[in-house]
Amino acid sequence: MGSYVKNLMAEVKAKNPAEIEFHQAVEEVIESLEVVLDRHPEYRAAKIVERLVEPERVLMFRVPWNDDQGGVQVNRGFRIEMNSAIGPYKGGLRFHPSVNLGILKFLAFEQVFKNSLTTLPMGGGKGGSDFDPKGKSDNEVMRFCQSFMTELCKHIGPNTDVPAGDIGVGGREIGYLFGQYKRIRNEFTGVLTGKGLNWGGSLIRPEATGYGAVYFAAEMLRTRNESLEGKTCLVSGSGNVAQYTIEKIIQLGGKVITLSDSCGYIYDEEGIDAEKLEFVLELKNIRRGRIKEYADKFKNAVYTEISADLDHNPMWDHAAHCAFPSATQNEINEKDAQNLINNGVYVVSEGANMPTTPDGVNLFLDKKILYGPGKAANAGGVAVSGLEMVQNSMRLPWTREEVDNRLHHIMKSIHTTCVQTAESYGTPGNYVNGANIGGFLKVANAMLDQGLV
Ligand code: NDP
Repeated sequence: MGSYVKNLMAEVKAKNPAEIEFHQAVEEVIESLEVVLDRHPEYRAAKIVERLVEPERVLMFRVPWNDDQGGVQVNRGFRIEMNSAIGPYKGGLRFHPSVNLGILKFLAFEQVFKNSLTTLPMGGGKGGSDFDPKGKSDNEVMRFCQSFMTELCKHIGPNTDVPAGDIGVGGREIGYLFGQYKRIRNEFTGVLTGKGLNWGGSLIRPEATGYGAVYFAAEMLRTRNESLEGKTCLVSGSGNVAQYTIEKIIQLGGKVITLSDSCGYIYDEEGIDAEKLEFVLELKNIRRGRIKEYADKFKNAVYTEISADLDHNPMWDHAAHCAFPSATQNEINEKDAQNLINNGVYVVSEGANMPTTPDGVNLFLDKKILYGPGKAANAGGVAVSGLEMVQNSMRLPWTREEVDNRLHHIMKSIHTTCVQTAESYGTPGNYVNGANIGGFLKVANAMLDQGLV
């Protein structure tokens, strides 16, 4: 680590104590940027990086709501408006008990670079709450969403800040949030993405992150004249990203043998086919059940609880070619990364945000596997959100084929940017540097053009 990175990190840690995920995300990016700043002293003089690590605005608010027993519940709501140099703030809302300021700042920081890579005009933001939708009735979720939006609606708008879904925020939550925004502001606009199809949503938006992560993996394999045909894949999570990752892998001739949730994982040696995936969609999206039920239904599958006491996740300890972490941050540590490599995995495409710890990432880079970091590999979701914004502005929906073709094209172009940028900065094959530098340059130049704001 050079002295510039050391000094900046010391400042970031001192100013943002206890925000460990934010520190981790910043350190990974600025390590890549040192070489860029050496080549471009104008960025250093204008303190572009020092400005990038400081959100333009942080909103934090009380969210009171009534539960079904009439009791009062209080949660905390957040919106981080990180950077608007290249467009309105754009990024998801996460509802999960683990949500805090540091986690949302890491996600908002990553989002700035990711959105830039898509080539669409979107700045970066992220938000959410420590509210846990699990175990709540639909009415409780609705009352919470209405209270959350009653405050958030004062700060967002189709040309200002356009939130979307993330962990714990799917079609149901976006519907309740949109309804309340419309009611208070008296306007029907594209203020959220991930909307229902008959009220402004885009085809392919639910599929986009998962499909995109698989398209990115396919592009990485293409650099070695290979494809996903016949490849065995490990997928973690069983939510939105995991579900459509599996669908696309099956379509491209691969086989998926794992799935998980926060309690445990299933291993299905025969592979999760289209029929079994249908069961998972019904289990997770309609009944909101646990993945354990997969092994109750399909007897050949084995369910294993994941204990927090273990120093590794047994899910990553199965023979395979590819891994698609699609659950949450830091779900692959150094030991998991070593297990993956020992078991033959040589393609990792991150559907989740920052799912690999820094030691794990370094191991993947040292071993020169095909490693696609989240801000590149999972950018398909926000890309199609950007396409939803375009369709909303035109008030004209595109067909499924049109959106999927554009998504595919964007993922290919992100891949090309990563490869070419990594090469031109002297680290061929390093998608981490390619994504960080590629995403940075466009934002940094816009910030220079716009003066000291
Ligand atoms: P969902 O809420 O639909 O699904 C999340 C899945 O991950 C669930 O299976 C959940 O299990 C599991 N999970 C969540 N937290 C943990 C945890 N702490 N430990 C273990 N498992 C956990 O979310 P998404 O599929 O939308 O998001 C998954 C990842 O993809 C996140 O990192 C998100 O930031 C990222 N992402 C999502 C995008 C999108 O378009 N949705 C876009 C880009 C990135 P359980 O049901 O038990 O909670």
